[in-house]
Amino acid sequence: MTPQTQPVLVAPADEHNARLVSNVHPLDWKNPTPAPCYNLVVIGAGTAGLVTAAGAAGLGAKVALIEKHLLGGDCLNVGCVPSKAIIRSSRAVFDARNAGCFGVQLAAPPEVDFAAVMERMRKVRADLSPNDSAGRFAKLGVDVFLGEARFAGPDTVHVTGQSLRFKRAVIATGARATQPPIAGLAEAGYLTNETVFNLTRCPARLAVIGGGPIGCELAQAFQRLGSQVVLLHKHAHLLDRENLEAAAIVQSAFIREGVAVRLNARISGVERNGGHKLVRYEAQDKEETIAVDEILAGAGRAPNVESLNMEAVGVQYDPRKGVLVNDCLQTTNPRIYAAGDVCLTWKFTHAADFSARIVIQNALFLGRKKASALTMPWCTYTDPEIAHVGLYEREAHERGVAVDTYVREFKEVDRAVLDGEEHGFVKIHVRKGRDEILGATIVARHAGEMISEISVAMAGRIGLGKLASVIHPYPTQAEALRQCGDAYNRTRLTPTVKKWMGRWLAWQRS
Ligand SMILES: Cc1cc2nc3c(=O)[nH]c(=O)nc-3n(C[C@H](O)[C@H](O)[C@H](O)COP(=O)(O)OP(=O)(O)OC[C@H]3O[C@@H](n4cnc5c(N)ncnc54)[C@H](O)[C@@H]3O)c2cc1C
Repeated sequence: MTPQTQPVLVAPADEHNARLVSNVHPLDWKNPTPAPCYNLVVIGAGTAGLVTAAGAAGLGAKVALIEKHLLGGDCLNVGCVPSKAIIRSSRAVFDARNAGCFGVQLAAPPEVDFAAVMERMRKVRADLSPNDSAGRFAKLGVDVFLGEARFAGPDTVHVTGQSLRFKRAVIATGARATQPPIAGLAEAGYLTNETVFNLTRCPARLAVIGGGPIGCELAQAFQRLGSQVVLLHKHAHLLDRENLEAAAIVQSAFIREGVAVRLNARISGVERNGGHKLVRYEAQDKEETIAVDEILAGAGRAPNVESLNMEAVGVQYDPRKGVLVNDCLQTTNPRIYAAGDVCLTWKFTHAADFSARIVIQNALFLGRKKASALTMPWCTYTDPEIAHVGLYEREAHERGVAVDTYVREFKEVDRAVLDGEEHGFVKIHVRKGRDEILGATIVARHAGEMISEISVAMAGRIGLGKLASVIHPYPTQAEALRQCGDAYNRTRLTPTVKKWMGRWLAWQRS
């Protein structure tokens, strides 16, 4: 056994973070003596690495898992888990502020205890951390090494002075926030997803750079939790990869809630001025300077490819796109695979998970599973949420695929009206002339929960007409999906069918 060198601290130092670290980077961890040769050496213990290691070990492989920072990677420590925890608190604030709409008068306006919100987040993060812990993986039979991995030869990885030999290796080193190229930003200081969850005091004025999923989720959450948020986005509308109407609904919600949305914004510089920071930008041909207490850079991710010495093993990579892989997630070295954010355009935890499952089969069992065969949904957890799966209308047009689109607005869905959640819609694209769902977008408070029904239908080749025959409990918002199915089936009633039905009914009356 070799002692582990670098202790990791997660701020603030409290009992929850101590518990988190004791699970995902135990200070007293001793790296094991390496086995003579591993079936699989996994570099990086985020979702992709953890799923690969656990799955391979469960099937009897001898596996080493190397992590330089915190097991659990971005998702547990600085991504999905902490963000969704504070989003939950921010929804509670929103609901309390809007209780009057439901006839509930609170004795006093709700007050946000930001420190308590963040403490709850740290507690639930620590509560979830045993699942990703070094101890759990050691019990699963995985040799867990804490330290930075680096390829040292065609079948060797080095970590903390030890050499690990492998038959197959997996690069699962993820991605990180990039520094926006803005003059003065680094000198003035800014937050990223790696530091924003360490806050214990709410910034009174917060500039969020980037109106993509991360920027939007956190901008809305901080606005609800008490910051005055200015959201600076360089494109013409927020969440610009999403369906335009969907993004417009979220944008309107932001504006209603008081987020200052600045579109087509070009930030020319940042400077520190006493206790605050000045952000200069141009938007709609107007130059403005705003004073804020904190700046959160929520745009731009870069794959972690630099320090692995991949040149030594013939693994090609692009500093922006990440490790280059084929459809089977094999790199340019056939013995080395990649999974998760480091190689995928889908930067989601569930994508990391399912790419890991592909890698296990292909790397260890001569599989030919393909990433392109995955049905990949995703969700942006704003309020309302935007969830999507499959093709967008514009992609279908670009590919020359003719589609019919079925839309149901939530103002027509009883449960959404009852819930006061009418802003949103379901949009389902079906291949023209065939009952084959090609894609769908849902905008709803719990769109992320609803999209899986469409994913199941797509993965199971269940048509929209068939969804109409599946009984959905009344009243639920998911009925909107069935109602799209009804609309589809109505289009199947051709004039000839209608004519024959009319004749049949007339004959019945005679
Ligand atoms: C704020 C935020 C919110 C998000 N919310 C969601 C969400 O709600 N839903 C969702 O699906 N996705 C979300 N994501 C994305 C999700 O977190 C990532 O897609 C997911 O974590 C990717 O997993 P991964 O294993 O590929 O990489 P990572 O989680 O980044 O793990 C890679 C690991 O490799 C380690 N590593 C790197 N280099 C080395 C090395 N040389 N040696 C050893 N170890 C190394 C790193 O320390 C890290 O622990 C969010 C991301 C952010 C930033």
